[in-house]
Order: sequence, then C-alpha cells, then structure tokens
Amino acid sequence: MKTNNLEQLELSIKASLSKIQNEFEYYQKNFFMERSPEFFCLELNGEAGELANLEKKQWKGRDIEPERFSDEAADVFIALINYSNARGVDLESAVINKLNKIENIRQERAENGLTY
Ligand SMILES: [Mg+2]
Repeated sequence: MKTNNLEQLELSIKASLSKIQNEFEYYQKNFFMERSPEFFCLELNGEAGELANLEKKQWKGRDIEPERFSDEAADVFIALINYSNARGVDLESAVINKLNKIENIRQERAENGLTY
C-alpha cells in the first residue's frame, strides 16, 4: 500500500513532468543544434562532475557561494531533461515506476526493521 505522501508526489509528477519535458523539447529543437543522446549523456555527466567538484571543495574546507551549487544543479537538471528527450525516455512514467520500486523495497525493509 502506498503512503499518502507518495500518492501526492505521483499526482504532482503527473500534473507537471510531461509538460516540463515537452516544453524543454520544443525549446531545444527550435533554438539549438540537434544533439545525440550520447552528447547529452556526456554533458549530463560533465555537469554532475562540476557539481561534485564543488561539493568536494566545500568538504575540504573552501567557501563556495550557494549560487554556484544552484547553478550546477540547474545544469544537471537541464542536461537530464535534454538527455531524456534525445533518448526518448518518458520521465513521468520512468520516475513513477522507479518511485514505486523504491517504495516497495523500503516497505519490505521496514517490515524487517531495516532502513533503506
Ligand atoms: Mg555547469
């Protein structure tokens, strides 16, 4: 049985994620050069690396301006959407399916007194 929170999360995803993904696809196709899924996959990992590098620097004691984390997180998000569009991934159904798998595992572990 799903938690009420997961049901609300699914409703929010169904209300918005496909629209966001479709609007990104329109914007990308009409105003930028066409790129392959492989390109966007590399871009996604490059941006994730930039974000990880900021976290590493902060972890090691450097002061990092909060806007820099926001900027790199936005790059990761945009690259993920562009990758998904280029690869034909329906993020709405993919995310909902994955959340349900995670929830099933979480509940199974909770029944055995384990955290996820
Ligand atoms: Mg970046």
